[in-house]
Amino acid sequence: MSTTVQKHPKGLYVLFATEMWERFNYYGMRAILVLFLTKALLFDKVFASQVYGSYTGLIYLTPLLGGYIADRYWGNNRSIIAGGLVMAIGELVLFFCGHFYENPAIAMPLFYTGLGFMIAGNGFFKPNISSMVGQLYQKGDSKIDAAYTIFYMGINTGGALGPIVCGAFGDTGVSGDFKWAFLAGGVAMILSVITQILFQKKYLVDAEGQAIGQAPKDAPAFFQKIPVMAGFLFLLSLLTIAMVYVDIKIVSYFLWLLVGCISLISFIIFSDKTLNIIEKKKVAVLFTVSFFVIFFWSAFEQAGASLTYFAEENTQRDLGFFEVPTSFFQSLNSIFVVTLAPLVAWIWIKLGKMNKEPSSPFKMAMGLMLLALGYLWIATGVNGVGAGVKVSMIWLIGMYMMHTFGELCLSPIGLSLFNKLAPIKFASLLMAVWFTANAFANKLAGVFSALYPENGKITSFAGYQISNLNEFFMFFVFMAGIASIILFFLSSKLKNLMEN
Ligand code: GLN
Repeated sequence: MSTTVQKHPKGLYVLFATEMWERFNYYGMRAILVLFLTKALLFDKVFASQVYGSYTGLIYLTPLLGGYIADRYWGNNRSIIAGGLVMAIGELVLFFCGHFYENPAIAMPLFYTGLGFMIAGNGFFKPNISSMVGQLYQKGDSKIDAAYTIFYMGINTGGALGPIVCGAFGDTGVSGDFKWAFLAGGVAMILSVITQILFQKKYLVDAEGQAIGQAPKDAPAFFQKIPVMAGFLFLLSLLTIAMVYVDIKIVSYFLWLLVGCISLISFIIFSDKTLNIIEKKKVAVLFTVSFFVIFFWSAFEQAGASLTYFAEENTQRDLGFFEVPTSFFQSLNSIFVVTLAPLVAWIWIKLGKMNKEPSSPFKMAMGLMLLALGYLWIATGVNGVGAGVKVSMIWLIGMYMMHTFGELCLSPIGLSLFNKLAPIKFASLLMAVWFTANAFANKLAGVFSALYPENGKITSFAGYQISNLNEFFMFFVFMAGIASIILFFLSSKLKNLMEN
């Protein structure tokens, strides 16, 4: 075996930096979002949770369109730059929203507009940057897995820095300061676009030195003209503004839309006559796995909503010499990813050498169990604690650590399963299933966060009543715990379906 350190193409580090700045922008903005909503725009927690769910849910839906348009008309490079600029505009609009926060007649339209731009822009950025990583290598190159791990570090470097920098500028206790967090996010987004523009020509090339991320040769030139692209993105942004507004303010249709998407996609795939039974079994595994990740992310993504309320109101953040801003807690997950990922990778290698490495579905069940244990930990911390009492930050920190171990068991494994099992013909459509499951989970995260108990209010979901924080966190213990146990039982069956 070669002992030389694997050398990756320079392009990987370009994509690392581009993605890092974009995630800085996304997670930095998300770190202060519900704080801005409840403290500056004076929404109640239920409404702020709904906004959070609709926004983050739609963020995972537009990549379906962005991936499609890039493959057929624009190519990855152009889509990333265009999407990045649209997101930067979104942050700028939110900056003005934050500036005029005391005047709802100005602030509210700016708010929905800013969210709409963020959603539309992300749809063109996220799927395209991810798919470029693999294109830097020859098909089947053994370095690709390591490349995605390095890229995931870029994601989380941004995810760790964004909440801290945006939080330091925006989460100061003064409502008028939130705008600086949006501006900091916007600056990061501009840095991301500049990185991409400066280095794409020279470094984003495949193993043969050919430029990657170009528009397909047969793409109509008309659709690549800058005014046409700008017009399209502008119309799409209007549509996403309307979509987010209708879901939040008029009728919550979004979950039904996603059910419709999944039903349509499963019909298209399962009724396809060219797929044989073995391929269909593999597709069935992917659908099953996507179903279970909904339970994971809907509990995990409480980070940006209910867990932020908890950090703000129920966590002792005063260190004596420094009061830790609430938003900083949202960087913990990313900090733990960067520090714990090598340990988890090492454990899989060790187990692999002993021929004891668990199957992918089994690892995902473990991820769900770790998530449940994280919530059990924090539920214990708040057991018997009266309203308004603040508990040690060790409960929140310990929970985020367990959640991150769970993420590392589930997220990279789920994604690579899609790469391995999807029939080539339906690779993109099945990736869409993964994104749709994420969209569903994020929307559901908003629904669950709205159950957050306060002022003696009793909430309930599917017959489960919540009147205090312990019961609230136990809800996630039950949900993720039951999902995990079912997946443990199914895992050997799924493994057989995958391997046949
Ligand atoms: N934290 C990762 C990212 O932002 C993964 C999130 C997810 O897959 N839901 O890309």
